[in-house]
Amino acid sequence: MQRDLPALAGSQFDLLVIGGGIVGACVARDAALRGLRVALVERGDFAGGISWNSLKIVHGGLRSLQVLDIAQARHFVRERRAWLTIAPHLVEPLSFAVPTRGFGRESAMLMRAGLALNDLVSANRNEGVVASRRLPAGRALARDELRTLAPGVFDRYTGGALFHDAQLYSAERLVIALIEDAVRAGAIVANYSEAIGAVNEDGRLTGAVVRDALGRESGERFDVRARMIVNAAGAGAARVADMLTGREGVASSMKGIALNLMLAGDERVQTAFALTSNDEGRLRRLFVVPWRGRTLVGTAHYPCEQMPASSAELEPYVERFVREVAAAWPTRALSRESILLVHAGMQPLPHGAPGAKTHGPPEHTIIDHANNGTPQLLTATGPKLTTSRAIAEELVDLVSARSGRTTRPCETATKPLASTPPGDVAIAVARALAADRAGMPDDVVTHLVRSYGAGYDALLAMVREQPELGARIEEGSPVVAAQLAYALDNEMAMTPDDLIERRTELGPTARATHRSREAVRAATDAPEHKR
Ligand SMILES: Cc1cc2nc3c(=O)[nH]c(=O)nc-3n(C[C@H](O)[C@H](O)[C@H](O)COP(=O)(O)OP(=O)(O)OC[C@H]3O[C@@H](n4cnc5c(N)ncnc54)[C@H](O)[C@@H]3O)c2cc1C
Repeated sequence: MQRDLPALAGSQFDLLVIGGGIVGACVARDAALRGLRVALVERGDFAGGISWNSLKIVHGGLRSLQVLDIAQARHFVRERRAWLTIAPHLVEPLSFAVPTRGFGRESAMLMRAGLALNDLVSANRNEGVVASRRLPAGRALARDELRTLAPGVFDRYTGGALFHDAQLYSAERLVIALIEDAVRAGAIVANYSEAIGAVNEDGRLTGAVVRDALGRESGERFDVRARMIVNAAGAGAARVADMLTGREGVASSMKGIALNLMLAGDERVQTAFALTSNDEGRLRRLFVVPWRGRTLVGTAHYPCEQMPASSAELEPYVERFVREVAAAWPTRALSRESILLVHAGMQPLPHGAPGAKTHGPPEHTIIDHANNGTPQLLTATGPKLTTSRAIAEELVDLVSARSGRTTRPCETATKPLASTPPGDVAIAVARALAADRAGMPDDVVTHLVRSYGAGYDALLAMVREQPELGARIEEGSPVVAAQLAYALDNEMAMTPDDLIERRTELGPTARATHRSREAVRAATDAPEHKR
């Protein structure tokens, strides 16, 4: 996919999507697959906003079950199944240990009831899912088993339960794969293109003024015209809604910040697990999740008026969360220095805050601006990554109805991404390992199939032609130089950060050193990539 601003400026679209996070990507894919003519603009890089910061859990509604919200739990089960079906190379099963003891909220009896209810509500969780991505039924854990799965964490507990959920291999690669699908279906997309104003004709919203934020043309403005606009600008959605409607306060801004901490991995820990923590008198569950050789801990939610503008402003939130985790998990001996990376992003009001929902995951809202006299605009606020596909389906249903175009039905819950390998992804990995692989080691081959799916063949061909592209960039990471060249040629990577943070996992796994910067410089300096 290529960044083609003249194509954006010179066409009339059915739909303009503002924002290239997971929600915008899902909307663009869905609408383009239904036959709509779609444009998408992203002011930074794709997946560079809140979507970069997730705990990578594709939730199956366990928290909804805790408060017996069965309808919401079933919605999460459906969406988890959709991701396991359409992107099995990028989404995989994740087991979760929850400890039990005594009577009351933490009792084994209550947990057994939870396991039974979860199995009942998620009875169809594996329909259409390939064998290696199916989720087993949950089960009770004996004390010794619990201690083996998470050594040193639950010594005071008498047993536990093992649940199964799903986890993203890479949030960034999922967003890129969705956007590539949209482009394949005809969408025109551009990163580093910010919507900065409304285009109005005869009192109607007919598009957005867009600013090119890059290079020689930086600051150049052009209009993108569309019958309908979906505002999927994440934390910027309230501002974009005000800008496009010409009114103030038509969408409420997010008033909470969410945080995860990334720590060094612990090979002994074989499962994700829950900790009970105390945030200034309020008990809550935190999740400790093994991911790509690292450990993620999250998610903390704190009231916050706007995203801290610097790491110094973010620091008090980080320190508060580090204190909370250190108290909840004393055997890990956590300090500020042991944090490799912090995820932070704006979210709707945290649970328990005045005016917020009292239970379960925050709910999303679709604001139909027909109510403010702008029927051409829809705004999505407060979605979860897990439910972004469903939100997109709802949005595109509205867009189709309002644009007056006859469209094909929504297919996104079952139609695999174009990059999904045919058959079972586990077999695709095994085949790639058994075939000629240009000397690349097991972990690199596995990583490339997981990251690119059917696109692995293109990277393999590059390494065959130029064996030095098969070299690891960082010790302990399976990322190879071919990925940089591939991203520059095919994935609209425009800056060094795009390559390190969002086309490869050098940044997201906190493994980027000066070697990554040097490899990026070598790739961008290559004559064929000189911009
Ligand atoms: C710490 C943390 C952990 C989380 N963990 C999970 C989890 O485990 N599971 C889960 O399901 N969810 C999780 N979430 C929630 C989930 O990550 C978000 O809800 C989701 O990523 C939001 O996606 P989005 O597309 O709405 O927003 P974003 O990813 O922020 O995308 C919006 C995009 O719009 C762009 N934009 C803004 N203004 C403009 C403009 N004027 N013109 C053009 N572009 C613009 C931004 O640059 C941005 O890229 C977590 C969130 C946080 C913060």
